[in-house]
Amino acid sequence: MALPSEFMQELRLRSDISQVVSGYVNLHRRGKISVGLCPFHGEKTPSFTVYPATESFYCFGCGVGGDVVSFIMRIENLDYIDAVKLLAQRAGLEMPQESSYDDSMQRLRLRVLEANREAARFFHSQLHTPQGKAGLEYLHGRQLSDGTIRSFGLGFAPDSWRSLTNHLLDKGFNSSELVQANLAMQSKKGDIYDRFRNRVMFPIIDTRGNVIAFGGRIMTDEKPKYLNTSDTVAFKKSNNLFALNRAKNSKSDKLILCEGYMDVIALHQAGFDFAVATLGTSLTSEQAVVIKRYTNTVVICYDSDEAGQKATARAIEILRRAGLDIHVLTIPDGKDPDEFIKKHGDSGAYRFRMLLENSGNDLEYKLTKLKEKYDMNTADGRAKYVNAAAVLLAGVRNSIQRDVYIGELAHEYNVTTESVERTVNYELRKRAKASKKDEFANAQKQLTNEGLAPIAGQRITGALRVVRAEEALIAYLVNNPDMAGKVTQSLPPQKFVTEFNRRVYSEVTSRILNGESAMLMDISPEFSAEEISRIAKILSNYNVDIATPKACMEYVDIILEESNKMTPKEITATMSNEEINRYFKWLGQAKKSKRKPN
Ligand SMILES: [Zn+2]
Repeated sequence: MALPSEFMQELRLRSDISQVVSGYVNLHRRGKISVGLCPFHGEKTPSFTVYPATESFYCFGCGVGGDVVSFIMRIENLDYIDAVKLLAQRAGLEMPQESSYDDSMQRLRLRVLEANREAARFFHSQLHTPQGKAGLEYLHGRQLSDGTIRSFGLGFAPDSWRSLTNHLLDKGFNSSELVQANLAMQSKKGDIYDRFRNRVMFPIIDTRGNVIAFGGRIMTDEKPKYLNTSDTVAFKKSNNLFALNRAKNSKSDKLILCEGYMDVIALHQAGFDFAVATLGTSLTSEQAVVIKRYTNTVVICYDSDEAGQKATARAIEILRRAGLDIHVLTIPDGKDPDEFIKKHGDSGAYRFRMLLENSGNDLEYKLTKLKEKYDMNTADGRAKYVNAAAVLLAGVRNSIQRDVYIGELAHEYNVTTESVERTVNYELRKRAKASKKDEFANAQKQLTNEGLAPIAGQRITGALRVVRAEEALIAYLVNNPDMAGKVTQSLPPQKFVTEFNRRVYSEVTSRILNGESAMLMDISPEFSAEEISRIAKILSNYNVDIATPKACMEYVDIILEESNKMTPKEITATMSNEEINRYFKWLGQAKKSKRKPN
């Protein structure tokens, strides 16, 4: 995806990151940086920071960061080339000739989206043909109105091997595009055939209105009940949600998270236009971050069977980590929201609204679940429950909230507030002790995250120190390229102990030594989106204004000193085979040069 470097240089100079970002975010200057409310997650106090000096941004709330191109990629939901095109247009720059860069992936993505759109039209039109009649009857049987069927673009894939395939080939798509879109499969002989057959079809539409995938439900007892599009160039299951394209326009400040497409559609039909669902998988942390972009409050509304309750417990943890307020709606009779609303006929929507308003927060939900474990008809059972509940309350971070629950629990079971408090405090102390123990384990874990092999106890602090020095040095060099010559003389990349920092350091220094610019935007094509966020974080974590050339050489010393203490095994643990070969070759040369000449 290499664009000519002169062009990129020009684009960089003309795309001031503060200016570009302020088109989307209300930025306030604070000295040399600017801050604002993050556009990528919901927040009330600004943690989104723009650094003009390093031409980067970083959000301390959700950990997203990068350069001006990655900002546009994220906020406009574009791929790299299209983000560059948009910036070029904004800066009045002409894009280089198409042949000078490879945008084949982008073209394929567009073809896949077009094929999906045409497929959605085809599936929908089948509902009104003889072979699709069964599909329409099924949807009517699930009490969906024609209006709902139309607005969700529901459809039917005929019981045939070639009907969609032939239709799309006629429309000018080629076999490879259909296979890439996961609309068709290829047999061993090379023939292609429809992937979805005899299924009711649910198009999955992203927040920009693209049909990105499908879910197909079989109408019989055959397995699998649901068949979904696998990941394609245009679709990633783990960060999309069904019906978010509609729910994002709802007036409600909440989102209802359901398990199935049918639940979502039934809720929308009943007036709850803020329901979404995961795509045939359990909730992922990426989806939680997407949700946080649109709301602060999620109501989990999963099936009331055992599997649904297990999934609820899991979802609570994931959503909490994303900083969301969580409510849990429990369906009292019937298995899922779809069934519940249907069962109650005309009063279904009203009753569901009552459930929604009374849905407790996740702690209340956990207390209810806990209660089910004890025999509340005996004094012994109640006492055991109060004890277990107090342990649960120790997990409430907000002390005011904790006190309120302690008071309520004491009142409800007619015990003194003090006795509940004692249990809670005992538990809190126990946890504090355990967390000290965890500190050591955490440091070790942090190093493992950096890709380091386990390091003996007393040297952990040193190893953490060297990781920090590596990061500080990278941030310093990006800001002070003049020092790169001196630094690389004493510190070859091989001396870096973490694989990631080593790659960043190599990239940055080799560019500088070649006389090229090494800002985040220059090096970012070499890294993934996640890695770019990581580099932006490094750049934002170290206050380069106060770092001096002397500090810079101290970082070098720390890295040399600590990495010399590490065994070759510890160091090479983070390397690929190729890097290991290079490392030992380098080690041999370094040793040779130290020998005195005869
Ligand atoms: Zn953020």
